[in-house]
Amino acid sequence: QNTATSCSGCGVKLQTTDASKLGYIPEQALDREPVICQRCFRIKNYNEAANITLDQGEFLKILGHVAEKQALVVNIVDIFDFEGSIVGGLQRFIGNNPVVLAVNKIDLLPRGMNMNRIVNWVRKQAKEQGLKVVDIVLCSAKRNMGFDKVIEVLDTHRQGRDVYVVGATNVGKSTLINRLIQGYSDLDAELTTSRYPGTTLDLVEIPLDDGKHIIDTPGIVYTSRMTELVSRKDLGTIMPDKPIKPIVFQLNEEQSLFFGALARFDFLKGERQSFTCYVSNALQIHRTKLEKADELYANHAGVMLQPPSKDELEDLPKWTKHQIRVPKGSESDIFISGIGWIRVNSDLGALLEVHAPKGIKVLLRDALI
Ligand code: GDP
Repeated sequence: QNTATSCSGCGVKLQTTDASKLGYIPEQALDREPVICQRCFRIKNYNEAANITLDQGEFLKILGHVAEKQALVVNIVDIFDFEGSIVGGLQRFIGNNPVVLAVNKIDLLPRGMNMNRIVNWVRKQAKEQGLKVVDIVLCSAKRNMGFDKVIEVLDTHRQGRDVYVVGATNVGKSTLINRLIQGYSDLDAELTTSRYPGTTLDLVEIPLDDGKHIIDTPGIVYTSRMTELVSRKDLGTIMPDKPIKPIVFQLNEEQSLFFGALARFDFLKGERQSFTCYVSNALQIHRTKLEKADELYANHAGVMLQPPSKDELEDLPKWTKHQIRVPKGSESDIFISGIGWIRVNSDLGALLEVHAPKGIKVLLRDALI
């Protein structure tokens, strides 16, 4: 067997144990010449980028050097998990470099939506995150919408700079990268690498005509996202794959909604009003009286209330409560990362409480729809 310890494509240290981590090479592929990691292999042979993940701390360390460079940064986010997937603190690490927000999975929004309204909403939210956004593109990898626009926007704003593509896991980053590889790269050109100061991480760069590169960065893992907590199977249940059909509940105070056994929404105080749930149509919502809610959970979590199933339930962090006061006269959503959001329809104000696994992002925001 070959004794190479590093990839001859990108130089990363090889390992055969974890396919989701950098440098992975299947055991049997070590016999092949040249010895390249699975990531380089896929790019070379299938024109396709593989997924590599890191946590945000490691990630921002790697990105630190971008501040001293001229670069354009593309942050791809998931419209269904916007607050969960936006890269917080990005601007601090990239200095004055501009950001393009590519908002993916736009196909999930109910049909007939006003897209300008969505763009304005995204712009406002991005500003609150301190991002210097030069452009916002709505797209759908799945429906093949908007990516030509992404390429166009990159051409407009790149101005002879490198492009860094960043994003949380599951937002559709690999689809975008693959699209960019097909749109741009000269396949005969050598893949090049850059070493990130102070780390052992070598990343594959996709060459552009003018000697600059598109740099794919590892997908960022956020433990504040429900999509990182649940099993593959349950991910299929909570992540919508069709346009969301909103479900309206007329609730009196002291009524509760269960989203499987993953989260619970209590209407504690306020006048009778309607709440619209924007969640995957595969996720069951159970309505009950607040006074019965604890008992219902105790007796039915993991069975009638699922996902998750009973044995998976033990792997989830215990619930914590988030009390939220919706001010009178506001147009608000209650956002629960990975589950979706609940639109508060009246402007009467309400006192609400959300129960969700500890650490999962839950917040009050301006209504998206
Ligand atoms: P990555 O982890 O960011 O590289 O994301 P992937 O490209 O692997 O996609 C993650 C998941 O999101 C997959 O289940 C995709 O099918 C799904 N996905 C990606 N793009 C879209 C999209 O535009 N719309 C919808 N509905 N799902 C998408």
